[in-house]
Amino acid sequence: MAKQLQAIRGMNDLLPEQSPAWQYLESKLRHSMAAYSYREVRMPIVEPSPLFSRGIGAGTDIVEKEMYAFEDRNGEGLALRPEGTAGIVRAGIQHGLFYNQTQRLWTMGPMFRYERPQKGRYRQFHQFSVEAFGMAGPDIDAELILLTARLWKELGIDKHVRLELNTLGTLEARTAYRAALVEYLSQYESELDEDSQRRLSINPLRILDSKDKRTQEIVADAPVMSDYMDQESAEHFQQLRDILDAAGIEYVVNPTLVRGLDYYSKTVFEWITDSLGAQGTVCGGGRYDALVEMLGGKPTPAIGFAMGIERLVLMLETLELVPESVNKTVDVAVVTRGEGVSGKAMPMLEEIRTGLPELKMLVNCGGGFKGQMKRAFSSGADFALIIGEDELTARQVSIKPLTTEGEQVTMSVAEAISFLAKQSF
Ligand code: ATP
Ligand code: MG
Repeated sequence: MAKQLQAIRGMNDLLPEQSPAWQYLESKLRHSMAAYSYREVRMPIVEPSPLFSRGIGAGTDIVEKEMYAFEDRNGEGLALRPEGTAGIVRAGIQHGLFYNQTQRLWTMGPMFRYERPQKGRYRQFHQFSVEAFGMAGPDIDAELILLTARLWKELGIDKHVRLELNTLGTLEARTAYRAALVEYLSQYESELDEDSQRRLSINPLRILDSKDKRTQEIVADAPVMSDYMDQESAEHFQQLRDILDAAGIEYVVNPTLVRGLDYYSKTVFEWITDSLGAQGTVCGGGRYDALVEMLGGKPTPAIGFAMGIERLVLMLETLELVPESVNKTVDVAVVTRGEGVSGKAMPMLEEIRTGLPELKMLVNCGGGFKGQMKRAFSSGADFALIIGEDELTARQVSIKPLTTEGEQVTMSVAEAISFLAKQSF
């Protein structure tokens, strides 16, 4: 026998039992985007790798350790996208979407990072991301946070997530802070954990995030970002907080929240849950006012966030919040008696489908009557539609209730349509 091939580690198949939960979540996401007038965009999965090294930052974990980068047959440097923002910005510049206009955009799809696979962390995973361009004020920051808060409510997980906020200031403020931080941390260089030592020169802000105990002790006395904050960023942040307070959104200001990508400035935020163990961030984002210019466009204020779909689905499943109804794939199961009847009945069944476009009708193709009946019961159908040679000749069907007591009734195709139309499936 030929050797069986397996999927790549950390890249998952989505099987039929799992897809209803995904579809349920995706339909909620689409609905919330429509309600706030955001429009969908879809970008290629493969982009030139310099887009990410320039955009996300060469010293970030994503680019340094996690990116699937390769050369194509032409020797061109390509990468599987590790995140969506850089691609949207690239596309927006390329197609002139940012000239004298605002854009509210969303996208959904697979991302790729070479990480250690574990619960809630995969090598191919899916993000839903939302990006708003051309708006500099704190109101759009608030809109993004409010729409996610509303979404959590609609999904029923609002009591299981909390919001953390911080401001990173402008690029200049951050550069000044970075210098002070490096100066302070350099005194303790040999005591820092290995990752942090490496980050000291390439990405020192990430050291604030370190999970190492000694590093955390050192960080506790480090200069704080708020002392280096420029006035404009401080006001922007205060105005955002005022809007959130007025809207009744609870949050915690976390001064060590820096996020893993270089392009953020001013507002950053994360929604975190305790119901998934270690992989607790379900949504993260922030303002990235410098990115469009950095990638060759005109200066364009921008803010966005990304949600991890797998983590949200895990949450919905763990908390048993996927409605039972989404798993129902069959309303009516067709059971036939006699050789070749299922095929011959199809024109008649097509008439029923035309009359009832929403009906979910499963046709048993093949098998004896008893076996088909058994499958009809286990399919979750409310009715069996029984067709034998006699029914076929008379253009009739027999309808048998499967989930309630009740008689089997034989009727014409037209009667069957009006009978089924009255049912609430
Ligand atoms: P983490 O700290 O968990 O690694 P991150 O800061 O790298 O997250 P972002 O780049 O901000 O994550 O991506 C946004 C969201 O995408 C995360 O909050 C998470 O829900 C999801 N996500 C990120 N990496 C993965 C992954 N490898 N597998 C599954 N989901 C992921
Ligand atoms: Mg990560």
